[in-house]
Amino acid sequence: MTEPILRTALPDWLPSELPDTLADRIHPMNDNPVAQDARYVLCWLQQALRADENPLIELALHLANDLGLPVLVYHGMSQSYPHASDRLHWMLLGGSREVAQGCAARGIRMVSHVVRPGHIHRGLVYALAEDAALVVCEDHPTFVASWQSRNFAAKTDHAVLGVDAARLVPYRRLPDGLKTTPAFRKASGALRERYLGGVEPVEPAHPPYGGPLPFVPDALEGATDAQLHDLMAECEIDHSLPVSDEHPPSRETALRRVHDFCARQLARYKWTRNNPAAVGAGSELSPYLHFGMIAPWEVARDVHGADVHAAARWKYLDELLTWREWFHYQALHMPDFELFDGLPKRPRASLLDHADDPRDTVYGLDAMLHGRTDDETWNAAQRQWLVTGYMHNNLRMYWGKKIIGWTPDPKTAWNVACYINDRLSLDGRDPATYGNMRWCFGAAKPAYREQPVYGWVAPKSDRALRKRDGVPEWLSIWANAEHARLRVPNDWPEAPRPGRSEA
Ligand SMILES: Cc1cc2nc3c(=O)[nH]c(=O)nc-3n(C[C@H](O)[C@H](O)[C@H](O)COP(=O)(O)OP(=O)(O)OC[C@H]3O[C@@H](n4cnc5c(N)ncnc54)[C@H](O)[C@@H]3O)c2cc1C
Repeated sequence: MTEPILRTALPDWLPSELPDTLADRIHPMNDNPVAQDARYVLCWLQQALRADENPLIELALHLANDLGLPVLVYHGMSQSYPHASDRLHWMLLGGSREVAQGCAARGIRMVSHVVRPGHIHRGLVYALAEDAALVVCEDHPTFVASWQSRNFAAKTDHAVLGVDAARLVPYRRLPDGLKTTPAFRKASGALRERYLGGVEPVEPAHPPYGGPLPFVPDALEGATDAQLHDLMAECEIDHSLPVSDEHPPSRETALRRVHDFCARQLARYKWTRNNPAAVGAGSELSPYLHFGMIAPWEVARDVHGADVHAAARWKYLDELLTWREWFHYQALHMPDFELFDGLPKRPRASLLDHADDPRDTVYGLDAMLHGRTDDETWNAAQRQWLVTGYMHNNLRMYWGKKIIGWTPDPKTAWNVACYINDRLSLDGRDPATYGNMRWCFGAAKPAYREQPVYGWVAPKSDRALRKRDGVPEWLSIWANAEHARLRVPNDWPEAPRPGRSEA
């Protein structure tokens, strides 16, 4: 039986020939009308940094063609988003450059703004919207893409359409109130095939926009890596956290990674994925999915087509389409998803009951950030993160749980864990960040017995991990790895919630 598709009421001015699977991704963010006498349809990218297979761009093209206008794609890079650093800026700059190149190849004008001293245009989205018929932006549940688009949609008098570009199954098409992963797996599983085809490319009916702009864009399209580095050096961001050489910001890298992973590793994935020492055991696609350089349906299609055992395919797709998208769904429906106070009542209360229990050791932020604790496994995981911007899933579980025992109280533990994850990890600041952190802090199931400090939240040992093939050697290498010296704040970090959110 085909599942019914839940539909938000869509504005009646949408073109009637819009494909259903694209219309399913639309979330009207206000009910303002389409502006008359406009020069373009504005497509505002924040996290979905790809020129192809991008439902924002295809929707903007449908609308623009219908209105007899060109599309203007905009991507701005602020200096003041939380954790702004060379590591994160490099992904944004590289992603922006590629979108500019991809848009140019498709005959679409794309403009980027890299905020830096002497080049600060506040409220640029509002200024660009002045000449727009309407604005297409991202419908995302966490971090800047979520706060900024909601703020903008509430303040502007232009029509704003949010678009789900980050999930295979658009999360607003799933019923409310799914409480468990099996329920989510079933509901999402019934719709997956419908969206596997992705989005059909649309030809722009107009030449690229060449009219006036309220700022001088940064020409990233032809920029070399050295020029991007020079630009980044001008930005007032954290230069102490270096770029990750292991994860270059490019869609081509992401597409190649999927291809190579399906050809060489997928067959063994189910059995080797829990071993951090097994080279290439995971796909390491999370940074690319986070920055939207690849769409989940592109990955899922390759995995579906791979000539491997069905169990291997199933396991990988369950991580990508159940666990990843489940956390996105939860982040949409749980208002305090990123906060300690948003934890389920039982683990939260139990951790707070034990907040005054004496800790064996409390480490400062400096020791934790630089992987200088007395725990070899933790240090290795932390240093790998510091150097490469990536940490293996199995290590992250151990890593997150240990912080509960090493900080003065559970709320500080939550804030420290989210802070380190969000600052260092290329894939941080994501629904998967907070969803997994909730797992570490006991959201899934209680421990077998109550313990000091952890209460009814299960701690995790590294015993099994250390017995895996090659792990002791791997740990001793990474626990002693050279790394950059980071700027360390004096105080314990605050909760991961909006700081400034200029649009
Ligand atoms: C404490 C903790 C913090 C985490 N923080 C993040 C984070 O900030 N960002 C992030 O993307 N993931 C996070 N994860 C989940 C997981 O560790 C990473 O998604 C995974 O390690 C990425 O590596 P990969 O691409 O090689 O994954 P693969 O094993 O190749 O899996 C394929 C894809 O499935 C998804 N996936 C895999 N495992 C999970 C999972 N447990 N939860 C949600 N999605 C998953 C990812 O998108 C991943 O790219 C965290 C896990 C823990 C325990």
